[in-house]
Amino acid sequence: MIGWLKRMLQSNALAEAPARARRDAAVRADRIDDGHRPEGAGRNGSSMPVDAATIGTDHGPSQTLAKQLALVIDLNVCVGCHACVTSCKEWNTSGAAGPLVDENAYAANPTGTFFNRVQTYEAGVFPNTETIHFPKSCLHCEEPPCVPVCPTGASYKRAADGIVLVDYDKCIGCKYCAWACPYGAREIDEERQVMTKCTLCVDRIYDPLLPKEDRQPACVKACPTGARLFGDVKDPDSEVSKAIRERGGYSLMPEWDTLPANQYLPRRPTQKVGATSATPSSRDLS
Ligand code: SF4
Ligand code: SF4
Ligand code: SF4
Repeated sequence: MIGWLKRMLQSNALAEAPARARRDAAVRADRIDDGHRPEGAGRNGSSMPVDAATIGTDHGPSQTLAKQLALVIDLNVCVGCHACVTSCKEWNTSGAAGPLVDENAYAANPTGTFFNRVQTYEAGVFPNTETIHFPKSCLHCEEPPCVPVCPTGASYKRAADGIVLVDYDKCIGCKYCAWACPYGAREIDEERQVMTKCTLCVDRIYDPLLPKEDRQPACVKACPTGARLFGDVKDPDSEVSKAIRERGGYSLMPEWDTLPANQYLPRRPTQKVGATSATPSSRDLS
């Protein structure tokens, strides 16, 4: 078993052009300090004025941000349905009923990017095994190693909300950031030769043209089991902070000192079918 997954279990902490243009414009816009996004930044090509408080500045690695948006994922209830994957893909490439890769979808060598993937593992020793569905996207680290290695300053962390983004206008596709990321969260867009990754749906969560209840990441809105929570992990009263505090939320691979903002809620021990309540967990991770 992969080492880091085993350690987690043992600790029981266990595209289409219009949408691309919209996302690119939104990413560019968050560097504009005049309080307005350019025309076309909003969904359906609308302009999307941005409250000045939501506009971040370039920010180097730091643990001192007052606000840090993040996803918290409950591994107890993720059923590996990939609704979050397809919803993310649709929002970010507008492939609503289309192929999930951008080029040659049904050919021998399909290519394309996914900001969010669900990996499925079998953990334990037969017959005491469990199936683990593990969604993973950029973790919006507080000390992101992908940022300082970028030779053009295209990769940056926003001061206002801690989101790590790529400025596609500055990216030269050198892939240094992808090598630096220990989580494999970045994927090159072969067509444009720019690096891409989860944006925490920055073009949704601040869009005043969307109903308030829809200003959530696309993956969060789509999850049928409520496995994905979204909010400010620096706000002790937020839903995500309470979940982390009360349910033992933990970081992925803390030994890398990247301080991932995204956290995972550990799986609860399970029992063998037919076991009594006195029977210990069936999990055998030795
Ligand atoms: Fe898991 Fe929810 Fe994603 Fe389905 S949509 S794979 S349940 S996180
Ligand atoms: Fe950077 Fe990777 Fe951390 Fe995302 S998960 S902030 S790409 S190091
Ligand atoms: Fe994709 Fe948005 Fe979810 Fe990130 S927050 S994985 S970009 S849907």
